[in-house]
Amino acid sequence: MSLQVHITTFGCQMNKLDSELVANELISQGFELCRDNGQADVVIFNTCSVRQHAENRVLTCLGRLGRQKASHPGLITVLIGCMAQRQGTELIERFADLDIVCGPGELHRLSGLINKARDGAGRQLALTDRLRARRTVPTELEDMDTRHRLSQITSSAQAYVRATRGCDNFCSYCIVPSVRGPEISRPPASILAEVENLVAAGCIEITLLGQTVNGYRYCADGPETDFAELLRMVSAISGLKRLRFVTSYPRGFSDDVFYAMAEAPVICEYLHLPAQSGSDRILSAMKRSYTSAEYLDLIERGRTIVPNLSIAGDFIVGFPGETEEDFQDTVRLVKAVRYKNCFVFKYSPRPGTVAARRLTDDVPAEVKRRRNNELLAVQEEISLDLHREFIGQKVEILVEGPSKASYKERPEHRNQLTGRTRGDNIVVFDAPGQVEQLTGTLVDVIIRDASALTLFGELPSTLPNARQ
Ligand code: SF4
Repeated sequence: MSLQVHITTFGCQMNKLDSELVANELISQGFELCRDNGQADVVIFNTCSVRQHAENRVLTCLGRLGRQKASHPGLITVLIGCMAQRQGTELIERFADLDIVCGPGELHRLSGLINKARDGAGRQLALTDRLRARRTVPTELEDMDTRHRLSQITSSAQAYVRATRGCDNFCSYCIVPSVRGPEISRPPASILAEVENLVAAGCIEITLLGQTVNGYRYCADGPETDFAELLRMVSAISGLKRLRFVTSYPRGFSDDVFYAMAEAPVICEYLHLPAQSGSDRILSAMKRSYTSAEYLDLIERGRTIVPNLSIAGDFIVGFPGETEEDFQDTVRLVKAVRYKNCFVFKYSPRPGTVAARRLTDDVPAEVKRRRNNELLAVQEEISLDLHREFIGQKVEILVEGPSKASYKERPEHRNQLTGRTRGDNIVVFDAPGQVEQLTGTLVDVIIRDASALTLFGELPSTLPNARQ
C-alpha cells in the first residue's frame, strides 16, 4: 500500500499553492494524500510567520508530535513554510520529534529529504543561505510550478498560479521579505504553459499570485513583460473563464492594469488592495511609500476605468504611535473607499522586522481591540449596504461546493451550495441533490436576501442555465 501523506496548511494563498505543489510531487512519487492526520505516514505542516497567532497554532501542533509518533512508529514529521525559514534551526533543536525542516526556497528538495529520513539518515534541515542575495530561482524549484497539476487539495475548477516570488518592499512590520527572499518574476512562457495545462485539465478560474503581484516585470533577452501584458496574455487562453490576481500594492500600480481588466471579459472586476492605514504619519512609519490621497486617487482611477470594481482591503490597527486621530483617518478612508470587505488585524511585532527593532509597541491591547472592533463595525455596515444593492439581481457565480458557513447564519437551510461572484462576493443558495452536478460550474443565481458577509440566492426556476 502507498505511503499516506497529510498536509496542514496555515496562512495565505501562497502557502496553499506550495502545499498543492508539494502534494503533486509526492503523489508523482507514489505517495497518497489522506484526510486524517492520524492515518498518515508523513505529516507536513506548511507554516505562516505573518502573525504571532499563526505561529502559536503551529507550536501547539509541534508539541503534540511526540504522542503522534508514539502511536505511529516510523511517522515522519515535516515543517515547511515561512516559520521553517525564519526559525528552522531553533525549532529542530527544540522539538526532538520534528524530523525535517525545509524552507520555501528549498521545496524541490523535500521528497529527497523525506526519503533520506525514511532510510534512517537522521533529521534533515534545508534552509536557504543568504536568501536575500538570491536573484534567480533554482530550475528544480521553478519546475515544480511548471509541472503544476490539479491535486486533491483544491477544487478542480480553480487554481492558484504563481506570478512572482518574494518581496522587495520591506514594510516595517512585515517578515515576508526576510523569509521569502527578493521579488523575482517568473518567465511568462512558464506561467502561460502552466495555465494552459490547468485549463486543459478542467480548471476555469485562475488566480495569479504574488506578494505584490502588480510588480510583475520580466525581462530576459527579449522585450520586457509587465503585469498588464501578462494579464492580457493569460486572459487570451482559450477555455479560461475567470482570471483574478492577488495581492496588489498601491505604489506603482499602473492604469494599464485597469485597462487590461476593462478590455478582457475574463478578468474579474476584483481588486485586493491593502491600504493598512488611512494616516499618512502611520503609513510613513510603516514604510508603505504612498499617502492616503494617492491611494484614494488610485481607487478613483480604477473605478472610472473598470465599472463595478469590487475592492477588498487590509488594515492594521494599533501600529506603534497610532493616536486616536490617526485611527479616525483610517475610519475615514474605509468610509470613503466603501470596500466590499476588509481584513483588520491588531498590530503584533514580528521579530526581525524594523518595527519590532525600532518602534515601541505602545498602543495598549484594549485600545487595539476597541479600534479593531470599531473598524469592523464600520465595514460591516458598508458591506451590508453594498450587499443589499444585489437583491433582485441575477449574478454569475462559480460554485465551490457545499456551504458550511450558511448553516451557522441560517441553520434551517440544508442542501445549500456556496460560490463566488466575479467581484468575490460569497453567495449561498439551495440546490438539493445537485452538489455533484453544479460544483465547479458557473451558474446564474437570483439574489433574494443579504447579510454583511453573504448573499442568499436561488436558482432561476429554469435550471438548465448551468454552464461550464
Ligand atoms: S508589500 Fe509589505 S506587507 Fe506586503 S509582503 Fe511586501 S513587505 Fe510584506
